[in-house]
Amino acid sequence: MAVGAVARAALWTAVVAHLLVVEYLFIRYGQGKNSLLTVGKFFGLHLAAIMMLQIVLVARLPWLDRRIGMDRLTVWHRWIGFGLVWTLILHFTFIIVGYADLASQPPWDTFLSLAGVTASLLGMVAAVIILVVASISVRYVRRRLPYEAWHGLHLLLYVALGIGLVHQAFEGTTFDSTWATVYWWSVWGLVLAALLAGRVAVPVWRNLYHRFTVAAVVPESDNVVSVHITGQHLDKLPARAGQFFIWRFPGHHGWWRANPFSLSAAPNGRSLRLTAKAVGKGSAGLRNVPVGSRVFVEGPYGAFTTIHQTRPASLLIAGGVGITPIRALLEEPGGPTTVLYRVHTVEEAVLLPELQALAKARGAQLYVLTGRTGAGTPPNVPFAPANLAAAIPDIVQRDVFVCGPPAMTDAVVHSLRALGVPRRQVHAEKFSLA
Ligand SMILES: Cc1cc2nc3c(=O)[nH]c(=O)nc-3n(C[C@H](O)[C@H](O)[C@H](O)COP(=O)(O)OP(=O)(O)OC[C@H]3O[C@@H](n4cnc5c(N)ncnc54)[C@H](O)[C@@H]3O)c2cc1C
Repeated sequence: MAVGAVARAALWTAVVAHLLVVEYLFIRYGQGKNSLLTVGKFFGLHLAAIMMLQIVLVARLPWLDRRIGMDRLTVWHRWIGFGLVWTLILHFTFIIVGYADLASQPPWDTFLSLAGVTASLLGMVAAVIILVVASISVRYVRRRLPYEAWHGLHLLLYVALGIGLVHQAFEGTTFDSTWATVYWWSVWGLVLAALLAGRVAVPVWRNLYHRFTVAAVVPESDNVVSVHITGQHLDKLPARAGQFFIWRFPGHHGWWRANPFSLSAAPNGRSLRLTAKAVGKGSAGLRNVPVGSRVFVEGPYGAFTTIHQTRPASLLIAGGVGITPIRALLEEPGGPTTVLYRVHTVEEAVLLPELQALAKARGAQLYVLTGRTGAGTPPNVPFAPANLAAAIPDIVQRDVFVCGPPAMTDAVVHSLRALGVPRRQVHAEKFSLA
């Protein structure tokens, strides 16, 4: 079984096992004072269970991350987040109408009297925060907000989590049993420990231990720059070609700005390198990062590595600056390899001389595909299924690693499906996390 499939199976087995225990506990101990309150409790319990899963998905646990990938975990988190919102609305609605029914009063009066009880009020505040964050995560709003603003507001969810836990501790009357209560809070303990480990302990420890520093800043073209990083004990850093870090250059940008960039060379135990195209302030400013300044990193992250390779032969496809992890992967030892590098003009093909040298050294084929997509007769569509199959006749027998702009990556993945390349042989990195 492939490593990714093992991790997915482990994660979903744990989720299903937890849900089975929760359903048993609910049936055994979860009766409310009337049937509406019982339903309200059912949704409250499941709301908490969904929150636990949401936290695990974004805890950045190294074991899960390198097997499933942060991009996929984030997509799951996003979709499950919408389920969480509906569960929250149902929990709130049934609790209000349940108590209104019990007290024979209108729901609005019940709402006001519950808002006067501290534990219920805390639940309501947590709910409002979750609803606000969910509304800014809707794709339409998310695209219009700067990343930092969206991320900053998203951090409010930690406040909602804290308040929500206090709400549960005081209102959590669902389990009228000691062992049920012990089980529930033990699972919460594990989930919070995972969050602290992945988000705080591991990054803090790695930065203290490795003391990352800028060693050199090398312009690759007018709008692309490489930053070389050194540090202590880099041979102990568990990074692989194809992975990325989230980088902070506080000497230059301030603490709050963090950008994900892939390694553009395989880690060699002595240094790391990122290569960034200027897109906005963060990436454009990398040119001016002072040599010798400290760098703070989170990572390594990502499942775009050869631990997922299933076949000896590979096809590496890059579009534009998507060449960075592909360039690193080309350093990994392996079987027959072909690289397709899509750019508008040869001048845009950054890192080309070193790619040519690497390809030559390992006997790989490297093709630079130029021109505007759709231009000319016949139209320039190198990643159309027929063109891919003509260029790489044994494509179905290869693992394909593709990294480029989201539209190009989607087009390639679509063509690979049309050609019958099995899903487990297709590995994609889109340079976008949500
Ligand atoms: C896994 C991954 C690997 C990447 N590797 C490379 C690489 O090797 N070379 C390269 O040139 N580019 C890479 N990118 C893209 C790069 O992260 C963005 O171009 C860069 O962060 C833009 O930031 P900015 O401040 O210059 O521009 P802004 O205008 O501030 O940001 C532009 C967009 O970049 C994205 N972005 C910014 N900060 C973050 C963040 N902390 N987390 C997630 N997305 C963010 C957002 O979608 C934002 O809307 C990668 C992206 C991802 C997700």
